[in-house]
Amino acid sequence: MTIFQKIIDREIPASIVFENERVLAFRDIQPQAPTHILIIPKQPLVNIADMNEDDIALVGEVFWCAKTIAKDLGLSDYRLVTNNGSGAGQSVFHFHVHLLAGRAFDWPPG
Ligand code: 5GP
Repeated sequence: MTIFQKIIDREIPASIVFENERVLAFRDIQPQAPTHILIIPKQPLVNIADMNEDDIALVGEVFWCAKTIAKDLGLSDYRLVTNNGSGAGQSVFHFHVHLLAGRAFDWPPG
């Protein structure tokens, strides 16, 4: 079981900023920007590579929720990141989108 499943199940606390039946969003415990929110599906999905066609609407909704949260926070400039695989920086194997804002971001990313 991943740490994010424990957050979904309320076994460990998190600073939750948004929730509906399918999606949960909460603040990252080690923020890399003044705003750093993680948006996750409640149903287990490892990462983008683990997606199948049945997950298209759910992954779309995760991004839709990211947009809605950013709008509610008054953010116009932000970065959405999803790391796919440990070599790309994924450390929690439950799909999540990072919503980062509040500072300048380099491109290409490090
Ligand atoms: P990844 O490295 O998989 O792309 O991102 C995982 C993120 O989850 C990291 O930014 C990390 O700080 C965050 N994280 C890990 N454990 C916890 C936790 O227990 N609570 C919260 N809120 N964030 C966590």
